[in-house]
Amino acid sequence: MPSVREQNRLWHELSGCRQAKFFLQELDRSRAPFALNLPRKKDLRILVGLLTGHADFNRHLHIMGLRQDSVCPLCQEEEDTTVHFIAQCSALMLLRKNILGDYILSSDTLRSIHWFLLLNLLKLLRGFTDLVDCQGCTLGPCCSLSVGCLLTQPSTPQVR
Ligand SMILES: [Zn+2]
Repeated sequence: MPSVREQNRLWHELSGCRQAKFFLQELDRSRAPFALNLPRKKDLRILVGLLTGHADFNRHLHIMGLRQDSVCPLCQEEEDTTVHFIAQCSALMLLRKNILGDYILSSDTLRSIHWFLLLNLLKLLRGFTDLVDCQGCTLGPCCSLSVGCLLTQPSTPQVR
Protein backbone atom coordinates (compact mmCIF):
# COMPACT_ATOMS: atom_id res chain seq x y z
CA MET A 1 0.00 0.00 0.00
CA PRO A 2 1.37 3.44 -0.90
CA SER A 3 2.34 5.76 1.93
CA VAL A 4 0.00 8.55 3.02
CA ARG A 5 2.29 11.04 1.32
CA GLU A 6 2.15 9.05 -1.92
CA GLN A 7 -1.64 8.71 -1.73
CA ASN A 8 -1.98 12.47 -1.24
CA ARG A 9 0.35 13.12 -4.19
CA LEU A 10 -1.68 10.80 -6.43
CA TRP A 11 -4.91 12.44 -5.28
CA HIS A 12 -3.64 15.93 -6.11
CA GLU A 13 -2.32 14.87 -9.51
CA LEU A 14 -5.58 13.17 -10.46
CA SER A 15 -7.54 15.33 -12.88
CA GLY A 16 -11.20 15.98 -12.16
CA CYS A 17 -12.98 15.32 -8.85
CA ARG A 18 -13.22 19.09 -8.31
CA GLN A 19 -15.78 18.98 -5.53
CA ALA A 20 -14.37 15.92 -3.80
CA LYS A 21 -11.00 17.65 -3.74
CA PHE A 22 -12.67 20.68 -2.16
CA PHE A 23 -13.84 18.66 0.84
CA LEU A 24 -11.17 15.95 0.88
CA GLN A 25 -7.92 17.84 0.46
CA GLU A 26 -5.72 15.32 2.23
CA LEU A 27 -6.08 11.78 3.47
CA ASP A 28 -7.62 12.10 6.92
CA ARG A 29 -8.10 8.77 8.63
CA SER A 30 -9.69 10.45 11.66
CA ARG A 31 -12.89 11.09 9.70
CA ALA A 32 -13.37 7.61 8.27
CA PRO A 33 -14.78 6.00 11.45
CA PHE A 34 -17.64 8.50 11.51
CA ALA A 35 -18.64 7.68 7.93
CA LEU A 36 -18.20 3.94 8.31
CA ASN A 37 -20.20 3.84 11.54
CA LEU A 38 -23.20 5.77 10.32
CA PRO A 39 -26.19 3.71 11.46
CA ARG A 40 -28.12 4.12 8.21
CA LYS A 41 -26.76 3.37 4.75
CA LYS A 42 -28.92 6.20 3.44
CA ASP A 43 -26.93 8.68 5.54
CA LEU A 44 -23.65 7.34 4.15
CA ARG A 45 -25.03 7.74 0.61
CA ILE A 46 -26.07 11.34 1.38
CA LEU A 47 -22.67 12.13 2.94
CA VAL A 48 -20.74 10.68 0.00
CA GLY A 49 -22.97 12.62 -2.41
CA LEU A 50 -22.37 15.78 -0.40
CA LEU A 51 -18.60 15.33 -0.35
CA THR A 52 -18.24 14.30 -3.99
CA GLY A 53 -20.97 16.41 -5.58
CA HIS A 54 -22.61 13.27 -6.93
CA ALA A 55 -26.01 14.18 -5.58
CA ASP A 56 -29.29 15.47 -6.92
CA PHE A 57 -28.09 19.02 -7.44
CA ASN A 58 -28.53 20.64 -10.84
CA ARG A 59 -24.83 20.85 -11.70
CA HIS A 60 -24.42 17.10 -11.35
CA LEU A 61 -27.75 16.35 -13.03
CA HIS A 62 -26.79 18.68 -15.91
CA ILE A 63 -23.46 16.86 -16.36
CA MET A 64 -25.41 13.60 -16.45
CA GLY A 65 -27.70 15.04 -19.13
CA LEU A 66 -30.74 14.97 -16.88
CA ARG A 67 -31.23 18.76 -16.53
CA GLN A 68 -31.23 21.58 -19.07
CA ASP A 69 -29.06 23.84 -16.95
CA SER A 70 -27.00 23.76 -13.80
CA VAL A 71 -28.37 26.89 -12.11
CA CYS A 72 -29.56 26.86 -8.51
CA PRO A 73 -33.38 26.70 -8.50
CA LEU A 74 -33.58 28.77 -5.33
CA CYS A 75 -31.50 31.88 -6.14
CA GLN A 76 -30.99 31.50 -9.92
CA GLU A 77 -27.56 33.10 -9.40
CA GLU A 78 -24.95 30.33 -9.27
CA GLU A 79 -24.46 26.71 -10.21
CA ASP A 80 -26.40 24.36 -7.98
CA THR A 81 -23.79 22.37 -6.05
CA THR A 82 -23.60 21.12 -2.49
CA VAL A 83 -21.04 23.81 -1.66
CA HIS A 84 -23.28 26.54 -3.07
CA PHE A 85 -26.35 25.11 -1.33
CA ILE A 86 -24.82 24.70 2.12
CA ALA A 87 -22.44 27.67 2.19
CA GLN A 88 -23.43 30.36 -0.29
CA CYS A 89 -26.98 30.31 -1.65
CA SER A 90 -28.56 33.71 -1.05
CA ALA A 91 -32.01 32.17 -0.70
CA LEU A 92 -30.84 30.34 2.43
CA MET A 93 -28.84 33.14 4.04
CA LEU A 94 -31.25 33.84 6.89
CA LEU A 95 -31.68 30.17 7.71
CA ARG A 96 -27.89 29.70 7.62
CA LYS A 97 -27.46 32.70 9.92
CA ASN A 98 -29.99 31.30 12.41
CA ILE A 99 -28.40 27.85 12.47
CA LEU A 100 -24.68 28.58 12.11
CA GLY A 101 -24.37 32.26 12.94
CA ASP A 102 -23.17 33.34 9.49
CA TYR A 103 -24.99 34.33 6.32
CA ILE A 104 -22.30 32.75 4.14
CA LEU A 105 -19.72 30.14 5.09
CA SER A 106 -16.11 30.51 3.98
CA SER A 107 -14.37 27.61 2.27
CA ASP A 108 -12.22 27.04 5.35
CA THR A 109 -15.26 27.00 7.62
CA LEU A 110 -17.10 24.61 5.35
CA ARG A 111 -14.14 22.23 5.21
CA SER A 112 -13.69 22.30 8.98
CA ILE A 113 -17.29 21.50 9.89
CA HIS A 114 -17.61 18.00 11.33
CA TRP A 115 -19.28 15.64 8.89
CA PHE A 116 -22.02 14.97 11.44
CA LEU A 117 -23.06 18.63 11.33
CA LEU A 118 -22.56 18.83 7.57
CA LEU A 119 -24.79 15.80 7.00
CA ASN A 120 -27.52 17.07 9.30
CA LEU A 121 -27.26 20.58 7.91
CA LEU A 122 -27.78 19.29 4.38
CA LYS A 123 -30.74 17.20 5.48
CA LEU A 124 -32.25 20.14 7.36
CA LEU A 125 -31.78 22.60 4.49
CA ARG A 126 -33.07 20.07 1.94
CA GLY A 127 -36.08 19.37 4.11
CA PHE A 128 -36.65 23.06 4.51
CA THR A 129 -36.41 23.82 0.81
CA ASP A 130 -38.82 20.99 0.10
CA LEU A 131 -41.24 23.03 2.17
CA VAL A 132 -40.60 26.33 0.38
CA ASP A 133 -44.08 26.20 -1.06
CA CYS A 134 -45.46 26.46 2.46
CA GLN A 135 -47.65 29.57 2.51
CA GLY A 136 -47.76 30.35 6.20
CA CYS A 137 -45.40 30.72 9.10
CA THR A 138 -47.62 29.61 11.92
CA LEU A 139 -49.48 26.64 10.50
CA GLY A 140 -47.07 25.26 7.95
CA PRO A 141 -44.66 22.39 8.50
CA CYS A 142 -41.69 24.80 8.37
CA CYS A 143 -42.53 25.85 11.91
CA SER A 144 -41.63 22.41 13.20
CA LEU A 145 -38.01 23.31 12.44
CA SER A 146 -38.23 25.89 15.24
CA VAL A 147 -36.61 28.52 13.04
CA GLY A 148 -39.86 29.49 11.38
CA CYS A 149 -40.42 30.03 7.72
CA LEU A 150 -37.68 32.39 6.60
CA LEU A 151 -38.19 32.26 2.87
CA THR A 152 -41.70 33.62 2.86
CA GLN A 153 -42.91 36.79 4.45
CA PRO A 154 -45.39 36.31 7.25
CA SER A 155 -48.82 37.48 6.29
CA THR A 156 -49.74 40.94 7.47
CA PRO A 157 -52.05 40.76 10.49
CA GLN A 158 -55.52 41.99 9.68
CA VAL A 159 -56.65 45.11 11.52
CA ARG A 160 -59.96 44.57 13.24
ZN1 LIG B 1 -28.70 29.34 -4.77
